[in-house]
Amino acid sequence: MEIHQIDTDVLIIGSGIAGLRAALEVTKAGKRALIVSKYPLGKATNTMLGGGTFSVSTDKFSPDEHQRKTLDSGRMLNDRELVRRFVFQARSDVEELVARGLKAHFHDTGFRCLSPYLIGGPVITKVVVDAVRDAAVPTMDNIMITDLIVTGKTCRGALGFHKQSGAWYGINAGAVILATGGAGAIYARHDNAPGSTGDGYALALDAGLELMDMEFVQFYPLVYAGSGRARMILPAFFGDAGDIVNRQGEDIKEKYGLPARLIATVTRDQFAQALFREIEAGKGVDGALLLDMRQADKSDLPYSEDLIERYRQKIAFDREPVKIMPACHHTMGGIAIDAEGHTGLAGLYAAGEVTGGIHGANRMGGNAYSEALVFGGCAGRAASEEAGTPVPAADFEGLMNDSARKWDALLRPDLQGTSEVSALMKGLQAVLWKKVGIIREDTSLQGGIEEMEDIARAVHSQTARNSRELCKIVECRNAVLTGLSIARAARERRESRGSHYREDYLSEDPAWQRHIYVTMTDGKPAVSRIVPI
Ligand SMILES: Cc1cc2nc3c(=O)[nH]c(=O)nc-3n(C[C@H](O)[C@H](O)[C@H](O)COP(=O)(O)OP(=O)(O)OC[C@H]3O[C@@H](n4cnc5c(N)ncnc54)[C@H](O)[C@@H]3O)c2cc1C
Repeated sequence: MEIHQIDTDVLIIGSGIAGLRAALEVTKAGKRALIVSKYPLGKATNTMLGGGTFSVSTDKFSPDEHQRKTLDSGRMLNDRELVRRFVFQARSDVEELVARGLKAHFHDTGFRCLSPYLIGGPVITKVVVDAVRDAAVPTMDNIMITDLIVTGKTCRGALGFHKQSGAWYGINAGAVILATGGAGAIYARHDNAPGSTGDGYALALDAGLELMDMEFVQFYPLVYAGSGRARMILPAFFGDAGDIVNRQGEDIKEKYGLPARLIATVTRDQFAQALFREIEAGKGVDGALLLDMRQADKSDLPYSEDLIERYRQKIAFDREPVKIMPACHHTMGGIAIDAEGHTGLAGLYAAGEVTGGIHGANRMGGNAYSEALVFGGCAGRAASEEAGTPVPAADFEGLMNDSARKWDALLRPDLQGTSEVSALMKGLQAVLWKKVGIIREDTSLQGGIEEMEDIARAVHSQTARNSRELCKIVECRNAVLTGLSIARAARERRESRGSHYREDYLSEDPAWQRHIYVTMTDGKPAVSRIVPI
């Protein structure tokens, strides 16, 4: 098989806010950057889907206060060095986006971008994509990266194929930045981009790295549901304005002792748990609960009339109760980095949602965009310093060929019948949702692990008729590795903390002021270390 070899100083995998920002810094440093992503540049990312809120310090919200709130949300499990770097850097990085044309207004605890859409993601993406295009950064779209090329203890590049043409590319780089985002799409109900299948976690595991804090997965309670699917997150105050009822008309706030106000922010996790219980008990309507805002005084909502009107055009909340469900929203755990974005492997950096440490046990709202922006910048600068002109390692070609052959062997254009991989992915999403999701306990976690191991074996024996199917197989394999990492860490953590809620260990336990690390052991993710803070 033919592999096209490409050389660059810094390879950036992913074109969300973290990858795009990293590329701008690499170019600023006078180095050659190359951005590759699974979809067209900036498209189908969580960055594109995001609401548009950045938490940063302001005149009324000092970096120290920002740090305190971040640590409080993270239940003190956050990496202090990363948080410190973040709270001091975020404001000026966001101001740089404003200087590049992002329209926004500062409020007490941050900054919200102004957008003609319901969400700010498309506007943020456009500003950064335009900057990348102005800087003439080379990009390759629709490339599925399957392997990092590691020789000795150094990352030398990556291997991937074009999802449509099936052409293979081996990219030889002075440094690599992983900015592949999170893994929300591995859950049956999620509000993430469909490609958030945990590829970066699997690439890191395969390269021998550890993942940290994988048990911490955030679920957003107030997601508008259409025909059993999570469609669009609703603004938090909608949850306060309306009644939330099950199919029997029971008031969920009253039944679970939830407050009338700030239900989707201060009591977000309890709210998600309550909705999950009701839906699992069969008390929902088409797998959702009902938010009834017909009697609500809309003038009480802290949103502009224009924004409310735009929601009204999408959702008939004035005329009928609307369906809501909780959905997987954010992955807090991931690859451990230092404040410059270095991972444990020379030549490999990471930034954005694929990393762990900054958010600890739960993420404060608005911290994801600012964090991806800050550490995308840090990784871009540090990678540029490290990256000399890449000299292919003697064994680069051999390693690349071995990896590509392993995938190519799965391609069987003459195959009859339909592939099972979509069904396996659906099965995996269902297991994670039910057994490794909002409410966890030992027996179901163990059951979930066993079911995922069965799915892993079944994925292993799949073959593909073309490169699109091969992409699905790789994604499913990555999703299983990520799911197992989450489940193993979740089973180990015998307490409830932040977003990790254990029915069999209801309270936070000071003895668990520890990080759980997972690494590949005998071909499977397993807990490798438990480290006190
Ligand atoms: C509905 C929603 C609303 C949100 N609202 C906010 C908000 O208001 N404020 C906030 O702070 N945060 C918000 N977030 C979170 C925030 O959007 C994300 O955490 C952040 O955008 C992640 O950026 P990223 O660059 O790390 O990843 P992403 O933007 O997800 O980009 C990942 C990139 O990696 C590529 N990729 C992945 N795997 C591969 C592979 N194998 N090969 C090649 N390319 C690959 C993808 O194609 C994509 O280009 C929200 C998230 C969601 C889902």
